Amino acid sequence: MLKEFELLKKISTSSSCPHAFLFVGPTDVGKFETAINFAKFLNCENREVENWRKIGLEKCDCEQCIAIDKGIHPDFYIIEKQEDKKEIVDSQIINKDKKEGIIYKINNNPIFGKYNIVIIKNAELMNKTVSNTILKNLEEPKNNTIFILTTTNKKNILETIVSRCMIVEFSLLNKKEAYELIENKNNKELILDLSSLKYKKIKELNNIDVFNKYVVDIKDFSKILKAKDFEKIAYINRILENKENLNYFIYIWELFFDFYLLKKNIDLIGDVKLLNIGENMKKLYNIKNAVMGNYILKLGLINFLLEMN
Ligand SMILES: [Zn+2]
Repeated sequence: MLKEFELLKKISTSSSCPHAFLFVGPTDVGKFETAINFAKFLNCENREVENWRKIGLEKCDCEQCIAIDKGIHPDFYIIEKQEDKKEIVDSQIINKDKKEGIIYKINNNPIFGKYNIVIIKNAELMNKTVSNTILKNLEEPKNNTIFILTTTNKKNILETIVSRCMIVEFSLLNKKEAYELIENKNNKELILDLSSLKYKKIKELNNIDVFNKYVVDIKDFSKILKAKDFEKIAYINRILENKENLNYFIYIWELFFDFYLLKKNIDLIGDVKLLNIGENMKKLYNIKNAVMGNYILKLGLINFLLEMN
């Protein structure tokens, strides 16, 4: 278990458990996974049991944990940006006319568990109305409702919200913690490199198919750098077939540059010679930070590859 989770357990079993938490830290370090585990812990029927440690949350089979795992717990809500929207929008939490929506429901006592729990993933994406509604709820806290907000950037969340939350900082793992999480002991060192010491990445890479995919995709990128223009464009088209792919491939390319610069894992990066690695990385960084329409993004991606030298 993550050290952040151990800390949360201690805080929540003390006499006054805060009613709002803000998990802050880089992507893929386990903020969202910990939010779900913490929600389970708060409601879990076995948490007082002496050997709970041995059972572990991931395997707990109490009604509460199972309901949260299955996504059918009536007092447990996850709010995250919908794919076709740019922000978390009003209709996700409120429906004034019909007196329903999450905000109305959490005004009542939980019906199944001990707490109403609301997780807001990437809370910096809340639009103004949502932010203000959440703020109002934090200003008038209810004993049996707990908010867990996660973010990579707390500067983009209303200061008045941040100040009402207990802040839990998430960070990269240290090497020792990472080694303990790696199940595939034959490829320990490579998984360590591929994970960038990120909790969620290690969990993914423990699956051998995912591990193999990472290896193949880094090798492919190395090949594509030396390929003809039309092959590069076909490669981009392949990636853009599935929007969710994009973050993954940007991560793969970052790994490639990391390995290249550090002269690591040479068998993956091949014999590519890049003359202007600084410029190339700057371009990749711009793409990563861009919130753009697909068309411009595609142009950026193609320029990125075609101008690589
Ligand atoms: Zn349980």
